[in-house]
Amino acid sequence: ETSTTETPKKIQDRTLGGLLPELSEFEPGVSCESRSHQPHRKNYFQPSKELIQRLRRYEARHRKCAGRARSFFRARESQGEKDDGCRYVVWTAIYGLGNRMITLTSAFLYALLTDRVLLVERTKETTNLFCEPIPNASWLLPPEFTYEWLQSLNESSPQRFAHNNFTDYSDTSTGTADFSYIHLIWNNDDEDKTFFCDESQDQLENVPWLFMRADEYLLPSYFFLSRFKADLDALFPDKEAVFNLLGNYLFQPSDVMWTRITRYYRSYLANHDRLVGIQVRTYQPKSPLPNVLEQLQQCILKNDLLPKVIADDGRSVVKPQTSGLQEPNNGSTVVLMTSLESYYYDSLTEYYLSGPTESGESVTIHQPSHDGTQQTGILVHDIKAWAEIYLLSLSDSLITSGWSTFGYAAHALAGIRPWILFGVVDDQVPDPPCVRAKSVDPCYFHIPVGNIKCPSKDVPDDKHIFPYLQSCEDNNNGVKLV
Ligand code: GDP
Repeated sequence: ETSTTETPKKIQDRTLGGLLPELSEFEPGVSCESRSHQPHRKNYFQPSKELIQRLRRYEARHRKCAGRARSFFRARESQGEKDDGCRYVVWTAIYGLGNRMITLTSAFLYALLTDRVLLVERTKETTNLFCEPIPNASWLLPPEFTYEWLQSLNESSPQRFAHNNFTDYSDTSTGTADFSYIHLIWNNDDEDKTFFCDESQDQLENVPWLFMRADEYLLPSYFFLSRFKADLDALFPDKEAVFNLLGNYLFQPSDVMWTRITRYYRSYLANHDRLVGIQVRTYQPKSPLPNVLEQLQQCILKNDLLPKVIADDGRSVVKPQTSGLQEPNNGSTVVLMTSLESYYYDSLTEYYLSGPTESGESVTIHQPSHDGTQQTGILVHDIKAWAEIYLLSLSDSLITSGWSTFGYAAHALAGIRPWILFGVVDDQVPDPPCVRAKSVDPCYFHIPVGNIKCPSKDVPDDKHIFPYLQSCEDNNNGVKLV
């Protein structure tokens, strides 16, 4: 089979082609304002019939089971009620918002594939920034699961998956239900990775509670599990659409966010012929980086992503376009820039003030914030991050930084194949500076296939088994769905 090259379509209905539950499903006054408006983005992928059915089935299960999660800590006392068919996968948070969105989406797909219910740790995002996605039920882990208790799940946990003898997953000291802790952050080992073996999935099927801590976009690995493969093919005929569909299902802006997003959009971005989003993320401590600015400018000009400026040295033969304050009407491009720095914004603004554009088009640049450093967990900072990911996703085209899950979340939600800026290594401007992405889906950086030792077979050391899994543009070791 080959992946389709279908591009996302204009979808006009509020359910995004049946992806979202009908508004009437939500209790009056509980739903978010953002749900009651027409689709916000330019294009959406069409969900398959199978996915729509699976989501409705999921919602019913979630409504049945979410409220029973409290009994986790009293499972030993209430043996009789134990087998209600409810099984859970719990998402726990690590790193920044982009990381959280891709791991949460991966956990959700796992829940869809295994008939589990996804519950999420209470974090700034899940309690303040996103709406509850499931009508008449909460996805929040009950408060009994304290931050401290969740933190105690780590590489030393007795319940760490594949590091015990598959006998008893319960915590006898507290009388909890049986559970297993899936450790898939950067320091995972060969045993942890056996999560991606069919045999492990057989064993985990009987464990009612799974707590997952991941820092990557794991879901492309699910395609290697033979038990999920046929199901995934039916749910996602178009592989590149996985995050776009599930992300648009899960991540609606809360009312606080929606007010901010619409206010910003109307004030700065609404009047345009074209909206171009640019996200610049650097990781070196000594930023801002002139080389990254140089790279961005080369990327823009070599690929005609924004109009060129005619150098205006004062002797230019080009007449000033206007002698007054009235704008000539040769088209307008609005650029939304996001970065922790203001340097790239300042420099690009200066560039467009330095002379007229060749086309006579006006270019206006806006950047909503520049907080300097990542401050995940501080509400005012996280609000800006989600607003900016969301606003970027409303663009007509995007330029994003490679290696950045912040950028991945923006372009995957948008359904836009971005121009990806390669990571700057050794202060050199990469050549080429950027490349057009082959799909809208995020990159899965450290694919564990190839070195997983499963009991029956080793997963082949070839990540290109499926035509729809290809190397990422920004990282040869990573793979992405295309
Ligand atoms: P990654 O580190 O680029 O993969 O993305 P993450 O989102 O996981 O973590 C980076 C965090 O830094 C974000 O969640 C924000 O808190 C902050 N951040 C990085 N870039 C930006 C930006 O362009 N705008 C805003 N508002 N925050 C940013």
